[in-house]
Amino acid sequence: MMAALISARAGNTVTLIEKNEKLGKKIYITGKGRCNLTNTCDKDDLFKNVVHNSKFMYSAFNAFDNIKTVDFFESLGLKTKTERGSRVFPVSDHSSDVIKVLQQALIDENVDVKLNTKVLSLIVNDSIATGIKTDKGVFKADKIILATGGISYPTTGSTGDGIRFAKDCNHDIKELIPSLVPFNVKEEYVSELMGLSLKNVEISIFNSKKKLLYKNFGEMLFTHFGLSGPIVISASAVVNDKIKDENLYLYIDLKPAISKEELDSRLIKEFDENKNKLFANAVTSLFPGKLTPVMVKLSGIDPQKKVCEVTKKERTDFVYLIKHMPFTLTSLRDFNEAIVTRGGVSVKDINPKTMESKKIKNLFFAGEMIDVDAFTGGFNLQVAWSTGYVAGSEIE
Ligand SMILES: Cc1cc2nc3c(=O)[nH]c(=O)nc-3n(C[C@H](O)[C@H](O)[C@H](O)COP(=O)(O)OP(=O)(O)OC[C@H]3O[C@@H](n4cnc5c(N)ncnc54)[C@H](O)[C@@H]3O)c2cc1C
Repeated sequence: MMAALISARAGNTVTLIEKNEKLGKKIYITGKGRCNLTNTCDKDDLFKNVVHNSKFMYSAFNAFDNIKTVDFFESLGLKTKTERGSRVFPVSDHSSDVIKVLQQALIDENVDVKLNTKVLSLIVNDSIATGIKTDKGVFKADKIILATGGISYPTTGSTGDGIRFAKDCNHDIKELIPSLVPFNVKEEYVSELMGLSLKNVEISIFNSKKKLLYKNFGEMLFTHFGLSGPIVISASAVVNDKIKDENLYLYIDLKPAISKEELDSRLIKEFDENKNKLFANAVTSLFPGKLTPVMVKLSGIDPQKKVCEVTKKERTDFVYLIKHMPFTLTSLRDFNEAIVTRGGVSVKDINPKTMESKKIKNLFFAGEMIDVDAFTGGFNLQVAWSTGYVAGSEIE
């Protein structure tokens, strides 16, 4: 939509082809239906939040950055607001309003929008793109922009068609891996914690050689199969290529604000004041409800033991457990649950200043189908807006 609009504004005759019955099905579900359309962080942070191939985004962010994105949407009549973490949303909290203003702008610029039309293949002659075949016939074109998305949440229409078209004309495709996605874990006790969300915890992820791969502080969630929530999902963007070769190990520090010495002193005090209390009952104030029985079980300490009988070793091991609650990450959840797709058309095959293919003349790429992915916070849509803007600008 962005590419079509910018290209039309440059005076081109533009046809936008969409296989769904309406535009922007994925935008509709973004930001839990509120659409976190960009992030007003500074330039440095903008690049830092692009996890893979941020350098490729240099020209595109220079041409159309997050601040220009906000101005652009405001100029289309979308009122925006900035929330915690510099995340930008429509004031209405309705993602449908983002789609509406884009749709109206496409009408205003006379873009011919063809819905229910599925592109089947590209027409390429002598390494020059000259048109597309669709289920409604052939369309000839001087220039073609592919912006068919990745393969996550395929029910929205992102089924990787464009990535296949690019592969068919010899573009290198980097392996498609789910990103911003929850993890499956080995430990069965996770199901007892299902639905529990923890705030202000720290997670660390290690490989089998005990190398630290990721560390973050914030909010997470237990599910029936494993771990999810903001910091866990962000972790997946960093370790998603490593987990297919080996299990990874995630530890939750349930009390990151205090040292193990301070935590031990707190336990000593608690146990001293309640000498005859049973262990299982003496530690309830430390954890949210569902977590206590799991922590007691993991401690290996008899829940019926009086706290005055808990040994020093048992207590210090319990302190260690509270600061290193262990999980074995066995795999990622699949593309049906991945917010974004890692991988896609190799950035080496695309001119970053124009988004034109280096292999096929007059063929351009934009959005998630390019091998660029980012963290949550509005950054993936920003990548789509910026690359779409550049691809559209180049067409004259
Ligand atoms: C649940 C969820 C929440 C998200 N929330 C956010 C958020 O708040 N902020 C953020 O920045 N990012 C978010 N994202 C990521 C963001 O939505 C995507 O990165 C972005 O939509 C990618 O844009 P795109 O135009 O490249 O691809 P898409 O949005 O996937 O659009 C591709 C379009 O191409 C069409 N198409 C595909 N194949 C064909 C074909 N053969 N013929 C015709 N049409 C075709 C599809 O139907 C689709 O409409 C979220 C993603 C998900 C799944």
